[in-house]
Parts: sequence; structure tokens; C-alpha cells
Amino acid sequence: MTEEKLLFQVSELKQWDYCPRVFYFIRCLPRIRPTTYLMEEGTRAGEDTAGLEERRSLRAYGLQSGEREFNVRVESAVLGLRGIIDMLIWQGEGKTRTAMPVDFKLSDKAGSHFALQVAAYALLVEEVFDVRVPQGFLYLIPKRSAEVVVLNNRILNKTRKTIEKMHEVVNREQIPAPATQIRKCIGCEFRRFCNDVV
Ligand code: SF4
Repeated sequence: MTEEKLLFQVSELKQWDYCPRVFYFIRCLPRIRPTTYLMEEGTRAGEDTAGLEERRSLRAYGLQSGEREFNVRVESAVLGLRGIIDMLIWQGEGKTRTAMPVDFKLSDKAGSHFALQVAAYALLVEEVFDVRVPQGFLYLIPKRSAEVVVLNNRILNKTRKTIEKMHEVVNREQIPAPATQIRKCIGCEFRRFCNDVV
């Protein structure tokens, strides 16, 4: 009998990209982390943006037309991943139909960890809706601007490998190596669990 894969949240890829141990501690010691003000604020800002986006044109995304769908739930037992996409922009019909995931961020920088999340949404959308996903977007709330995330093989393969590594670590209950940049450990809420870092 094949064992069912755990379902990670897409947001957990961001934790992994920051430091695999942060992901591990939150996954394996879920009771030790309080919800921070920043997390709550990020959720509220995302909800406000969705409300405004319904009334805006798609100009910020460089698109002339498209249908918007908000808070789209996607899940894949194959990837072992699920998430709620802030906004999906649909274009075309039938076999030429495409979808572009948009992630709203309370940040003024489009970091690589955010791009990884958009790529994960793209993999989920491709599988769930059987459509092409040529690109995605990060909508930076403070700047009110959208950054394109090009979904090439490099980022899609990196995302697949990252998800596989996350499953491996949790299945084997194996603590990953510490963050490579020591500055991340200074002030880290999990530092007391990491005896091998400064
Ligand atoms: S202290 Fe450093 S290695 Fe440990 S979880 Fe935090 S960032 Fe990662």
C-alpha cells in the first residue's frame, strides 16, 4: 500500500527558502510559534487588496484583458502541496486557455522566496486545471505595482526539488543544516533550538 503524502502549504516554501530549519521547526514543533503581528497584518492587507483589485483594470499586469478569480483553492496529492491563490487571471478559451497566478505581498521587494511561491502555485494550477501557466505575478502592496515572475524550467524544477526535499526532511524527521547566512540566526525565534549556530 502506498503511503499518502503529507500536504504542505505553499507558504511553507518561503520558510524553507529562508532557512530549512525554520520550516522544520514550524512543521515538527507547531506549538512553539505564536502568530506575529506581521503575519496578521499581511493577511489583512491581502484581503483589502483583493477588494480593490476587483474594481481595477489589469493595466498593472501589462494585460489588456482577462477574467479574475480570487482566493482559488488548489491541491495536489502528487506534489503533496496545497494553497489558496490570491488571484488567478484567466485568458483565452478551450485549448488556448491560460492562467496566471498572482500573489499579493506586503513587501516592496520581489525576493526569490516569493517567486518560488508563485512557481509552486503555477505547478498546482497546471495540474488541477490542466492549463498552461506562462507567467505569474507578485503584486507588491506598498508599491501598488506588479512584478512578472517568468516561469521557466529552471524555477519550476527548483520548486519541484524544493518540495521533494521538504517531504524528505519531514518523513525522515531529519533536522536540516542551519542557515548559511549567520545574520539570519541573529534574532531568530528558533535560535534556542539551534545549538550549533552563534
Ligand atoms: S537560528 Fe539560524 S539555523 Fe536555526 S532556525 Fe533560525 S535561522 Fe535557521
